[in-house]
Amino acid sequence: MSDFPYTDRFTVNRTMPEQGRPREEVLAELREMAQAEDPTWETGKVSGTMYCGDHEHYRFLDEAFGLFAHVNVLQRDICPSATKFEGEIIAMALDLMHAEAITDTEPVGMVTTGGTGSIIHALLAYREHAAKHSAKPGGIARPNFIKPETGHPAFDKGCHLFGIELRKAPVDPQTAQVDVEWVANNIDENTIAIMGSACNYGYGTVDPIPELGQLASERGIGLHVDGCLGGFVLPFANELGYDVPIFDFRVPGVTSISADNHKYGYALKGASTLLFRDKAYRNAQYFFLPDWTGGKYMSPGIEGSRSGGLIAAAWASMVQLGREGYLRYAKAILETASAMQDVVRKHPELTIIGSPTFCFAFRSDEFDIYHVADAMKPKGWRFNGQQYPNAIHMAVTRPQTQPGVVEAFTADLDDAIEYAKKKTAAGEAPISAAIYGGVPGGMTDEAAQFIEGFMEHILDTQQSLPPL
Ligand SMILES: *Cc1c(COP(=O)(O)O)cnc(C)c1O
Repeated sequence: MSDFPYTDRFTVNRTMPEQGRPREEVLAELREMAQAEDPTWETGKVSGTMYCGDHEHYRFLDEAFGLFAHVNVLQRDICPSATKFEGEIIAMALDLMHAEAITDTEPVGMVTTGGTGSIIHALLAYREHAAKHSAKPGGIARPNFIKPETGHPAFDKGCHLFGIELRKAPVDPQTAQVDVEWVANNIDENTIAIMGSACNYGYGTVDPIPELGQLASERGIGLHVDGCLGGFVLPFANELGYDVPIFDFRVPGVTSISADNHKYGYALKGASTLLFRDKAYRNAQYFFLPDWTGGKYMSPGIEGSRSGGLIAAAWASMVQLGREGYLRYAKAILETASAMQDVVRKHPELTIIGSPTFCFAFRSDEFDIYHVADAMKPKGWRFNGQQYPNAIHMAVTRPQTQPGVVEAFTADLDDAIEYAKKKTAAGEAPISAAIYGGVPGGMTDEAAQFIEGFMEHILDTQQSLPPL
């Protein structure tokens, strides 16, 4: 776990300070922390996390954010601009996802606070839509939803929150794509929707969306495409000649798509777009309370007050970059990802899982892959460790496209493989396996304790520190 490098330098606030401090002093403290943290990812050796990494772009977003940061978009009479930003973000995203192919229903969308926000709103919409429109006599009492096991945990979270049973479909170990037959066999009269990823986070593979779409159409249920990660990259992959299956509204049966502005949309954290083929789905999840003492209350989604700054910044990013900008960044990212995958493929000890896109995972049959992570960590590499099977994951983002990163990856991976072989021959267990290693049989008491301890570490550490 990370230690706290700031506690010896800055006051630990365990009570509200009696007297406020000068703004410049507070800002100086913040600057010092930010400047200490940025160099860790600026090297391009950190998987995912910093999707843009361009400080000039960040300054532009900060200015757009700053102009509207204080505005509450729930109060539209005060900020009609928010209606312009939100409406245009939705329209531009619908355009990217080929909503022009929709002729029989009205495509719509909403802007949420992130990928998880988009996914849980989709789940709520499907649940409410099914409750209202289900052909089943008596309605759907115990709704269920099917995701491939590679689908994001936000689906588990949403199903948990909304009382939806989640069924997890296996994926083919070779292609890392969902077993469509399993999905077909597990849809029943209580299934509200299914999902596929374009692409999934773990392996960067795209599920067979056209087949899932056909299945969803035949069975009269929804199909959500999780484009949280790929939504702003993969639409350009085809244009650039990469073999990526179509996953957008051109596929019949796709009823909703999520795409994260705050990932490859290069917006600030706290923005994602959720699109629906049919207005009836989105509108099913509206909340309103007409008889509250405080007046008639309504909100388009789960959140109440939201900052206008995030919407303004997401809009600013889209109109400033335009198709040309996104295409240019997608090209650099896809080329870098291909180059890194070629480096991995040159090592017969390593296996790339499925046919990935701009993010990929690799494993080894010859040694525990976490030895490789152990060897690369001191050189500044930060990968995500995966389990079932143990694998190393790399989401290629703009910081990796800077000169020298692929070369460093090539050299450091060579060394790491030598290290892994030596450690394996010596019968030593990898260090990082303690955190990432697959827990056999799922959750053990030990794993639960570790996870709880980690969350407490994040939330509670500051309170237990001694004062300076
Ligand atoms: C990141 C991600 C999400 C969830 O997004 P958050 O913004 O972290 O809430 C969902 N699906 C995929 C494929 C993702 O990569």
